[in-house]
Amino acid sequence: MRGMMMDFPLTLPTILERAGKLFGKVEIASRKPDRSLVRYTYADFYRRARRLARALELAGVKRGDRVATLMWNHARHFEAYFGIPATGAVLHTLNLRLHEDAFAYVINHAQDRFLIVDDLLLPLYEKVRDKVKFERVIVTPFGGAEIPAGMENYEDFLAGADDNFEYPQIDENEAAAMCFTSGTTGFAKGVLYSHRALVLHSLAEATVDAFGMSQHDTVLPACSMFHANAWGVPFTAAMVGAKLVFPGPNLDAESVLDLIEQERVTIACAVPTVWIGILAALEKSPQRWKFTNEVRVPVGGTAPSEALIRGLDKFGFHIRHLWGMTETAPLGTLCQVRSHMKDWSADEQYAVRVKQGYPAPFVELRIRGENGITPWDGETPGEVEVRGPWVARCYYNSPEDNHRWTEDGWFKTGDVACIDEDGYVKIVDRAKDLIKSGGEWISSVDLENSLMAHPAVLEAAVISVPHPKWDERPLAVVVLKEGRQATPEELRAFLATKFAKWQLPDAFVFVEQIPKTSVGKFLKIALRKKYANWNWQAGA
Ligand code: ADP
Repeated sequence: MRGMMMDFPLTLPTILERAGKLFGKVEIASRKPDRSLVRYTYADFYRRARRLARALELAGVKRGDRVATLMWNHARHFEAYFGIPATGAVLHTLNLRLHEDAFAYVINHAQDRFLIVDDLLLPLYEKVRDKVKFERVIVTPFGGAEIPAGMENYEDFLAGADDNFEYPQIDENEAAAMCFTSGTTGFAKGVLYSHRALVLHSLAEATVDAFGMSQHDTVLPACSMFHANAWGVPFTAAMVGAKLVFPGPNLDAESVLDLIEQERVTIACAVPTVWIGILAALEKSPQRWKFTNEVRVPVGGTAPSEALIRGLDKFGFHIRHLWGMTETAPLGTLCQVRSHMKDWSADEQYAVRVKQGYPAPFVELRIRGENGITPWDGETPGEVEVRGPWVARCYYNSPEDNHRWTEDGWFKTGDVACIDEDGYVKIVDRAKDLIKSGGEWISSVDLENSLMAHPAVLEAAVISVPHPKWDERPLAVVVLKEGRQATPEELRAFLATKFAKWQLPDAFVFVEQIPKTSVGKFLKIALRKKYANWNWQAGA
């Protein structure tokens, strides 16, 4: 017998309508490049997003067409997040930190028709202008730069439309947005999100044990809007009617902290590298900011170290560890200390919180080791496989990558992890980052985490470097905190309290900074290349 409920499509316009009708009075604050704030409301956002949809429709944008955005995190980008999919077209957020070749590749591969670009980012567009073909380039007057001939002003584009936009009947499985992976381990691949996936993802993300986002929250998405839809936060915030605070291009620690203090942010999202800088700023000037509330800090992209989680807790910033990927929209797992752990010691609870956590509702996860699916024993490593309503079933126009899915339809993540008796996943490494020394695996993530707990260490990346006797050995690349000193011997001794001797890095290299990917991850490919010919005997 079939159920007798309505077959009601799960689409983004439903969220837009709800936001406009119910939360019209809620504020949206958006920072300009000069750090001044522009304030408007969900009522304004609603009208302008629909205007954008109407303007695109009048300009000839059709269902399924790709409209690219090249923009910082600000209110107009938020309008595009809804205005483009409302027409049945696909929002393609371009990564503004890509190298120009990859940038042109992504635009051409997606066959983007229109581009909406911040005036400040036009120099980036100019670099690829001759290699790509946009029918129209619409420029947002964000930083007050002059708009070149042949391009149009976003505000004029909106003014040219009327308020009579009518939503097309969108099937929930139609594409709403597109994002390319940031390419940490290879060339970028396109992921095409459906309306249904984004709506269900928003519902799961809002739940108390995930982001716990409600109408009473003030949310700061300081994770890039070009990266996995700013973790879906703009969609979720609009669904629940939370106040939004957009940081614009200034993501240095002081700017972010000023904004959190001033706007009384309750949920702040950014990658761990941003929080490392924030913790250093807080420790340096503990009296400078006066926070009136605690801040929830959903963190993913790379693993936050235990030292970072502990350090931020002291200032009322509470990390909620998440794991995810562009391919999982991105919420995959979430880490909460569970009810049966509430009487555990602080140390035991921190040991839980550094894990990536257990799957979000509707995400299914298993780990495949050398002997098949691994037991929940907290130690057998294997590759994480996932499936669920917001997990990609293939890449966009890339059949050569279909090997990333198992025959029974699970996505092979490329992350190596183990899973404990409570179902908490602990990522040990990315498959490509594993260090295999004398036939034994060494976890670079564990070593990095521990190194970053040393009081003199700001950042640390551990990589595998070829070794004549052991195949590979770990080498640690370390950035020291301002004004602090540490010797390799000290760091080795510090690690030796936690690791077996054979697991310790054989060399420590001190650098000013570690190269990062476009979304703030350690660029280990570059480090491995740089130290590929390391002479273990000479130590150079
Ligand atoms: P890219 O694959 O180009 O880095 P993504 O941003 O989609 O782009 O990266 C997803 C990957 O980031 C995951 O496969 C995993 O390796 C890493 N990652 C994400 N969250 C975490 C986390 N909490 N801990 C450790 N690694 C993480």
